Amino acid sequence: MTDIKKAQPETMAVHSGVYVDAQYHSVTTPIYPSSTFAFKGLGEPPPFDYSRSGNPTRQALQENLCALEGAAGAFAVCSGMAAIHTVMMLLGPGDHVICARELYGGSHRLFTQILAKRGITFSFLERLDAASIEAAFQPQTRLIWIETPTNPLLNIVDIAAVVEIAQKHKVLTALDNTFLTPLLQRPLDLGADLVVYSTTKYLNGHSDVVGGAIAARTKALAEQLYFLVNALGLGSAPFDAWLVLRGIKTLPQRMKAHERNGAALATFLTSHPLVKRVYYPGLPEHPGHDVACRQQKGFGGMLSFEADTTKVDLKRFFGALEYFKLSVSLGGVESLIEQPWSMSHLAMPEAERRAAGITEAVVRVSAGIEASEDLVGDLKNALEYAASSDSVAYKNVKADTL
Ligand code: PLP
Repeated sequence: MTDIKKAQPETMAVHSGVYVDAQYHSVTTPIYPSSTFAFKGLGEPPPFDYSRSGNPTRQALQENLCALEGAAGAFAVCSGMAAIHTVMMLLGPGDHVICARELYGGSHRLFTQILAKRGITFSFLERLDAASIEAAFQPQTRLIWIETPTNPLLNIVDIAAVVEIAQKHKVLTALDNTFLTPLLQRPLDLGADLVVYSTTKYLNGHSDVVGGAIAARTKALAEQLYFLVNALGLGSAPFDAWLVLRGIKTLPQRMKAHERNGAALATFLTSHPLVKRVYYPGLPEHPGHDVACRQQKGFGGMLSFEADTTKVDLKRFFGALEYFKLSVSLGGVESLIEQPWSMSHLAMPEAERRAAGITEAVVRVSAGIEASEDLVGDLKNALEYAASSDSVAYKNVKADTL
């Protein structure tokens, strides 16, 4: 029998975790919403007994993720935050975590407003490079938390370099790979211990489910994660797991389209006079370009830019867009755009947002899979419209007024 783990990602995405039902021979994995499963008799349990602990549809998605990630175990949970929370539950009071100060806002909130109050300490570094990490090490350090590319400024962290230090000190590395997916970056291959996802984003890809996943490099870590997911009750609902499994089948094709559009938008924005700076690791001038070329199989569809807010009124800009939806989240087939300052990163205190470079002028773009020329045209029209007003002074865009 062919080993699916040796197949190409396009094949794995379609064929891993597919369970044909015995009765009707369905080509796709059925959804099993049953909360409980009957024992054959006393002492004769079925393969799954209770859906918090295990469910066939969730299991199918987990097998698919395991294959794509090259993991020893993978777990589908109810949100990206649930995935991050589960990983953090491997730690206890007194443990110390090293991470970058630029982080997804929800991770920052979990770390500073929940875990820090329960005795876990954090060092938020300006840069997650070897020298800064070495300097931040404490005897209590247990985990290095990596986001690469970072959200929202697309900074690149050298995964192999961080893993080398972590292994030297015998601490864990966990990486939020939401922006790239296993199609464009496989952190476990580079020695990371744990990978987390918001499957809400590219893995599902259709903006119609909230979910998360964790993949572990070793069986021992997978066993600990299984215990936590079951004990905390964080497992993905069967229908949600099914949606993500369905989404993943087209992930390889979608990622190509996202990247084509990400690159087209970044190139267009770079040469636009109303744009001061573009953050896209695919641009040769991006400071993390060489590392990205080494550790990624592509640059993805996420980018950010800094508008010249002495000329561009961002409220008018967002209001003038036709194809880009002004919303948080990312990774769907439709292009999305947002202001991290007032939206995705609002959970970070203002001073920390500013210190991380997340200012009012930063606009984050999730390039969808539409035609590049339509997306470029939309951004161009909206930028030029937003600069054409008499009132060109930048107005602070508040989430509630957007
Ligand atoms: N990680 C990253 C990089 C994210 O962008 C997000 C959400 O935007 C999350 C984690 C959290 O995921 P979820 O909203 O599915 O809980």
